[in-house]
Amino acid sequence: MFIPSERDIKEGRTADVYFHRVLRVLEKEGLADTEVTVEVTAKSLPEGWEWGVLCGVSEVLEILEGRDVDVWCMDEGDVFRPGEPVLRIRGPYGEFCVLETAILGCLCKTTGIATKAARCKIAAGGKPVYSFGIRRQHPAMSVVVDRAAYIGGCDGVSGVAGAEAIGEEPVGTMPHSMIVIFGDQVEAWRAFHEHLPEDVPRVALVDTFCDEVEEALMAAEALGDALDGVRLDTPSSRRGDMVEIVREVRWELDLRGYDDVSIMVSGGLDEEEIARLAEAGVDAFGVGTAISDAPTVDFSMDVVEVEGEPRAKRGKPSGVKQVWRCSECLGGVVLPEGEEPGSCPSCGGEGLKPALRKFLEGGRRIEEPRSEKEAREHVLSLLDRLDL
Ligand SMILES: [Zn+2]
Repeated sequence: MFIPSERDIKEGRTADVYFHRVLRVLEKEGLADTEVTVEVTAKSLPEGWEWGVLCGVSEVLEILEGRDVDVWCMDEGDVFRPGEPVLRIRGPYGEFCVLETAILGCLCKTTGIATKAARCKIAAGGKPVYSFGIRRQHPAMSVVVDRAAYIGGCDGVSGVAGAEAIGEEPVGTMPHSMIVIFGDQVEAWRAFHEHLPEDVPRVALVDTFCDEVEEALMAAEALGDALDGVRLDTPSSRRGDMVEIVREVRWELDLRGYDDVSIMVSGGLDEEEIARLAEAGVDAFGVGTAISDAPTVDFSMDVVEVEGEPRAKRGKPSGVKQVWRCSECLGGVVLPEGEEPGSCPSCGGEGLKPALRKFLEGGRRIEEPRSEKEAREHVLSLLDRLDL
């Protein structure tokens, strides 16, 4: 299969060729040891997003570990805004120039995914959102996608390997194929209930052959108290208004005493529909493409200092910067490194703290980034202060 090894990545074989060419030129001219500082910044965010959730930090640190560089970074799961540097590397340019492609590659897509997951979580009003979208990406990406979705706030992921990587149980219900093969919904649900361990939630897919209300009631009658929930994954050709369908399913289940049966919806969901459905009484969401193929964040890496002198290409502010984040309103201010801020320009509070911290010194780790669980908890703790 077409999957580079970890060694390929760390040795720069997944790099754009021009980095290898410039390295050769600099070596021939005796300039490969020139000390530079580079910063990684997104000038703007996709779809007019005003904030992003940083993801990919732990892989970036792994790539740079052992190189003769100092690395400052925001932490995994930190919120950042356009124009704020999220990563700073200082060292001889030849030590890391062939790693730029891989470093940006570890950050751009995963940050888009984590941000989208956080936005879906806000849209859902805190109700569970599960990452169901790894089929929309190459399988080599499945752990990366699920991990980023989880850090962004997803309550679980469908991928077996992705779930293992974050130390969670994978989440899933049943595919239509099973019900189609049985040719009878009730037989399929009963067999599922009979053969799977007790800790697998009994969530019946209720849109295969008949109307969602009809199948939801059939499932509730067939499995009785064992039924935990129903999942609606209605194809777009049969949809009508999903909000109305959900309200009707809820009403008819409640009327017959099945008010503890939860309703899960999946299939083509994005922020706006999630918000409408959450209002209508949906209890949980399976989100696929919107999260796994979230827009990428166009981070770029720019030289801002050469041998201690501020120097940058036009359009990029030169000199080393620090981002000061307000712990109260999450606003921020970018200042030249060494300059202390006053009070927060957004809320006037005194809660400004430096967002870029040193993780590697001379290639050695001096701090560990947040684990996936810690990063997710951190993101969830910020969501009530962020808007869509
Ligand atoms: Zn503030």
